[in-house]
Amino acid sequence: MSTQRGLLIILSGPSGVGKGTVREAVFDNENCNYIYSVSATTRSSRPGEVNGEDYFFISREEFENLIEKDALLEYAEYVGNYYGTPLAYIEENLQAGRDVFLEIEVQGARKVRERMPEGIFIFLAPPSFKELETRLTDRGTDSQAVIMERMERAREEIEMMKDYDYVVVNDYVPNAVSKINAIIECEHLKVERIVDRIQQDIQDYFVEGAESR
Ligand code: 5GP
Repeated sequence: MSTQRGLLIILSGPSGVGKGTVREAVFDNENCNYIYSVSATTRSSRPGEVNGEDYFFISREEFENLIEKDALLEYAEYVGNYYGTPLAYIEENLQAGRDVFLEIEVQGARKVRERMPEGIFIFLAPPSFKELETRLTDRGTDSQAVIMERMERAREEIEMMKDYDYVVVNDYVPNAVSKINAIIECEHLKVERIVDRIQQDIQDYFVEGAESR
């Protein structure tokens, strides 16, 4: 019997909503059996980040080469740097029946929707706009003007929520993680994902089993 294709899970949402933190918490769980799709980026690594684990840190030239070869499922330019999802790794794992998890910004998620509409698109939303502003301020990396720019952008990005399958409010990280896991568990139980296997079992019982009875 052929292996059931894995699920492609896309976690996205506005800047500052906590996508990275939630994704890390999803993967911190020892029972997590998703494959994390490591992105390529042209930004430089931050202290503690590991090449090949957090990102593939590559030059602009190398990145443009990947674009040219159509080796990326999607890519986006974000705050002056390229970010993109290598396609071959995803395909390999999906075909082997493993669930692949992407954590990407909303432009990229939109492109994945066009190319792989069967993906499960989860939008991570802030508990409130006030809270989003507080989180951006607390990061301490941006000026007030940049924060207001990001808030405006978040307003536009939240409009894109309607193109997603699920919304998870990031009020408390463990809550968000258990909701994401529940969504994926339910997705695996959808009739269209199970029916072939059951039909094959019936077939085996009546056709092949009959020979030995
Ligand atoms: P950071 O530089 O903080 O690690 O990431 C910046 C943004 O890029 C985050 O919103 C993150 O979700 C997004 N991102 C990371 N990898 C990818 C990718 O492969 N494609 C796209 N479109 N966005 C990504």
